[in-house]
Amino acid sequence: MTQTYDVAVIGAGMAGASLAAELAPHASVLLAEGEATPGYHATGRSAAFWEECYGGPEVVPLTLASGPFLRELGLLSPRGALYVARAREEADVEAFVARFADSGAHIERLARPALEQRIPGLRPEWTLAIAEPACADIDVAGLHQHYLAQARRGAVELRTSARLEAVEREGEHWRLSFGRAGEARARVLVDAAGAWADEVAGLAGARPLGITPHRRTVSQLRVDPVPPADLPLVLDISGQFYFKPEHGRLWLSPQDETPSEACDAAPEELDVAIAVDRFERVVDWRVEAVERKWAGLRSFAPDRLPVYGFDTARAGFFWFAGQGGFGIQTAPAAARLGAQVLLGLPKDAMTGSIDAATYAPARFAAG
Ligand SMILES: Cc1cc2nc3c(=O)[nH]c(=O)nc-3n(C[C@H](O)[C@H](O)[C@H](O)COP(=O)(O)OP(=O)(O)OC[C@H]3O[C@@H](n4cnc5c(N)ncnc54)[C@H](O)[C@@H]3O)c2cc1C
Repeated sequence: MTQTYDVAVIGAGMAGASLAAELAPHASVLLAEGEATPGYHATGRSAAFWEECYGGPEVVPLTLASGPFLRELGLLSPRGALYVARAREEADVEAFVARFADSGAHIERLARPALEQRIPGLRPEWTLAIAEPACADIDVAGLHQHYLAQARRGAVELRTSARLEAVEREGEHWRLSFGRAGEARARVLVDAAGAWADEVAGLAGARPLGITPHRRTVSQLRVDPVPPADLPLVLDISGQFYFKPEHGRLWLSPQDETPSEACDAAPEELDVAIAVDRFERVVDWRVEAVERKWAGLRSFAPDRLPVYGFDTARAGFFWFAGQGGFGIQTAPAAARLGAQVLLGLPKDAMTGSIDAATYAPARFAAG
């Protein structure tokens, strides 16, 4: 017999796993993942930082609200971040400070002498910086496992190798077909399918919102000198690179953002080469080897804000997508808020300062 759930969540990356865990005390939940292993796509490929400004001022409330939860679980390790700039980019520095002035993010300006102490071998033209001292590394696998375990304890059924292939409306329910992984019925269908969010919406007859995957590349370098363990996350004010140390190696990204179809993303040699070239213009370190490289898809709605809430036209279809480059650092508050919106529960201490309307799909409804 086809089993019926209150909620079926499609996708068991960070988004789906965290939302399923938050829903579990209140509802019967199916968490369906197309891959054999949850976290195979964007979630397993992140650069693993929690950075207050990342994603822009309208994402800051989600990031800040997630911080205490992550710290309590011991999943954040202090690192600090520096947005570096050259003299000719002074206007960009000013614009950055103005943009985040009322956001709640903690930032301060730094001048060259302080920069030299934090980034040994920094080339002379990098004279300006904005520091974001609270930036931390996140234990991504630890957070994902935390939510999967919480979901399991809450009797969520995790079905892996269960790709949603077809959806039909049956009265008040959705009938969901997962090919050889069987069928299920659910009152609410949650789209937490990352790069495939629009595709899943299409299966359910909801209007796609234009959530577009973009490829982002990271490489792991062996460099001389060995990067100090306390090197901050170093980001370019103009978004051309970031790098940070990782167990004696360096993780480097050219901050590429190439539109892509939803797929198992792979790095392009050219993007790795571009990253190394940009890196060599920042510090005088020698790149000895590219040890590892990977790419993943960051998926953005047209306004680059996440989409949490019921579709305005398709009853019972709930969006939990468009987590862009901040889906790990915002996961705790996003999942709590998502569950509250889905179930009609009041906000709590974690979500009290977040305006759910900012992320509601209603902003895309035809006016
Ligand atoms: C290189 C890189 C660096 C990043 N760095 C950071 C960072 O430092 N900090 C940060 O906060 N964020 C970072 N991000 C962003 C973060 O990884 C994403 O925002 C987050 O992982 C999105 O989670 P998700 O669950 O929505 O997507 P995913 O992890 O991609 O999960 C979606 C899941 O849905 C499944 N699925 C799709 N279609 C179906 C279907 N039809 N049926 C069943 N299952 C389906 C997929 O198999 C997939 O597992 C980075 C991303 C990349 C690529």
